[in-house]
Order: sequence, then structure tokens, then C-alpha cells
Amino acid sequence: MVRNIWAVGRNYSAHAKELGNTAQTAESDPMIFLKAGSSVVQNGAVVTLPAFSKEVNFEAELAFRFGKDRRFSGLTIALDLTARDWQTKLKNQGHPWTLAKSFSNSCPLGPMIDLPPDLNLGDLRFTLKVNGELRQKGHSHDMVHSPEKLRAYVAERFPVCEGDLLLTGTPEGVGVLNPGDQLEAEIVGLVKATWTVRT
Ligand code: ZN
Repeated sequence: MVRNIWAVGRNYSAHAKELGNTAQTAESDPMIFLKAGSSVVQNGAVVTLPAFSKEVNFEAELAFRFGKDRRFSGLTIALDLTARDWQTKLKNQGHPWTLAKSFSNSCPLGPMIDLPPDLNLGDLRFTLKVNGELRQKGHSHDMVHSPEKLRAYVAERFPVCEGDLLLTGTPEGVGVLNPGDQLEAEIVGLVKATWTVRT
């Protein structure tokens, strides 16, 4: 089981803007939050939506696995599911996001691949389709903080364990999930994932 899922907020400017947030700059510290390791849903499985939220959003993200020496050892696609109604409420109260980000089933994960040694982390394209319709399209060169910068930042400050994940933020196009939705995500040429949504 995954122990820790380190995640970053507002790492794509166009997504920060669509939620009415100020975009981060490369000079600012990345905004890091945690998702429970036990919130993972494996590839091909059913994603059960939490009863307490009426607005669970999908956020497709590149997800890296930490290896022995806190270097990246693996790569997959993940969904950082977010109870947006609760996140807005918590943000307005100045409270942590845990309820909005770390509920059961909040981290659907694709099949993990070992990181190809010659892979250019600045040139990864990924997509999310909901019921066959393209909803999100991302490219790692649009990140405010690069995967390597995020890796170093998290590894230096937190008790990172082998097998932990790093979620690197979502591009624009996030939207609401509904029971019955069929989700297909991919990192072009590398990883394909599918999940089904239920209540
Ligand atoms: Zn996210």
C-alpha cells in the first residue's frame, strides 16, 4: 500500500485561474498538501463517490513514485479527486483541505511503470476522457514548478518513504463526476488507465 501521497496545488496557471485563484510563480514555494495513502483506487476498479459532497471534481495529474534514494523510480497517471463544494467552504474558513482532498477513493491510480531512464520529464503529454469525451489535456512543460523541482522540494522537507507518490497538479478543464461515468486517462505513449464511477 502507498504510505504517503504528496500533492501540489495550482501548478498550472490556466487551472488556477479557472478556479479564481492567483497563479503561482516559479519563484514562489510550491503549495503542498497530503492525500491519505489509503485513498488509492487501483486501475480498472470502481470509484465510489463520498455521500457528503455534491460536487466531486476530477483532476488528472502526472504521478511519480519515489524510489529508495528519494529519486523518482516510477510514473503513472492519477486523479486528484476533490470535493469542490467542501474545498470552497474550507478555504473561506481558512481551514485545511483534508476533508476535500483525502476522502476514501480520492486517488484513482493508473498502472505504475518503471521510469524509463532517458525519459524527458519536460515533454509528457496526458489526457482525461469522461464517457469518451476529451475533458483535460496537459503537458508537463506547462507546469509552474517542474517535476524535478517538486521532487527536490518535497524530499528536502518531508519524511518521504520509498513507494510514496508525488502528484504534480492538474491543467484546466476540471469538472464534476457523476455516477456511471467511465473514465479513461493516459500519458501519451506510456500509460493507459480506466475507472468506473459509482455512488
Ligand atoms: Zn490537484
